[in-house]
Amino acid sequence: MDEASFQPDYFAGTVPPAPGGVHAVAPGVYWLRMPMPMALDHINLWLLEDGEGWTIVDCGLCNDTTRQAWEQVFEQHLQGRPVRRVVCTHLHPDHVGLADWLCRRWNAPLLMTQGEYLSARIIGAGLPPTDTAGLVEHFRVHGAQPAHLQALRARGNLYMQLVPSLPLTFQRLEAGQRLRIGAAEWQVIEGGGHSPEHAALWCSQQRLLIAGDLLLPRISTNVSVYPMEPESDALGRYLRSLDRFDALDAQTQVLPSHGLPFRGVHSRVRQLRAHHAERLLLLLQACAQRALSAADMIPLLFRRELDVHQLGFALGEAIAHAHRLWATGALSRRLDADGIIRFTAEAASDQHREALARAAAGLAMPLGS
Ligand SMILES: [Zn+2]
Repeated sequence: MDEASFQPDYFAGTVPPAPGGVHAVAPGVYWLRMPMPMALDHINLWLLEDGEGWTIVDCGLCNDTTRQAWEQVFEQHLQGRPVRRVVCTHLHPDHVGLADWLCRRWNAPLLMTQGEYLSARIIGAGLPPTDTAGLVEHFRVHGAQPAHLQALRARGNLYMQLVPSLPLTFQRLEAGQRLRIGAAEWQVIEGGGHSPEHAALWCSQQRLLIAGDLLLPRISTNVSVYPMEPESDALGRYLRSLDRFDALDAQTQVLPSHGLPFRGVHSRVRQLRAHHAERLLLLLQACAQRALSAADMIPLLFRRELDVHQLGFALGEAIAHAHRLWATGALSRRLDADGIIRFTAEAASDQHREALARAAAGLAMPLGS
């Protein structure tokens, strides 16, 4: 089979539940969907039967629309039983935004990995270099245009705006930990690259994977390098995380945070590797022609117009791809006299470059080459 082809099998249908509604996807497991006022216009959340009560997985954005939708769920779908626990897969505002409200509303604990929880507290407090000035400097050394930096300054600290408060304590989730939720046992699968220590949940009895943002059916997960870990190989961490999904049952039903629940975990992982290998190859080719900053790479990776918000994601993604190749030795990285970091590649044959890009994405060479 072509490694880049993937037709998701949408086992739960293609009509998502309305806001405030629920849709059973497996015994004791319900799918919720909340709208979002941005290009990515929704998030999926999960409600799990948990003995005498319920466990919520992910919370939605902190706004009145989402609060109202939750109130409707509480009124119509909890059968008079309380929410006992609130799990957050990771720190992003669409996942953790309403965590504080939900935990207070139900006097329930927040369950999160330590990496996600502490990072959320640090970013939420605006500690340098996770604040606006730190982000602006990070983007400046990677070649962002003055107009982009100005727009970032004007926007201010988006995380503090979107996550105004967090629970002051948490219960730690750890890689490999088994959580009993109702009659089912769920195992924490930790993953990096998208966020510090993302927790996906795997239930082998039901062959269900609550994937969070680590595995989505249509869009590729954003992988970025951030100011607090400016030399990180985030894409390498993400690709190694995908290995853990290779080990799951082929019939696994994936419950993603965006898009529709699907089957086809192995072919989706293969397709993502091929996608990143293709992008890595583009960068290798371009950096053999001339030294490029990460900002110079954006038009190679993204062919559409980008707004400030998308430009930030795109630059983070460009740095992550360049750092993957830097980590394998395929690109060199230097700080030029103008204060900008640029990447260069040695001259190489097309075949050699393809081998480097595929190896960096964790793919073997195709048979016959
Ligand atoms: Zn996310």
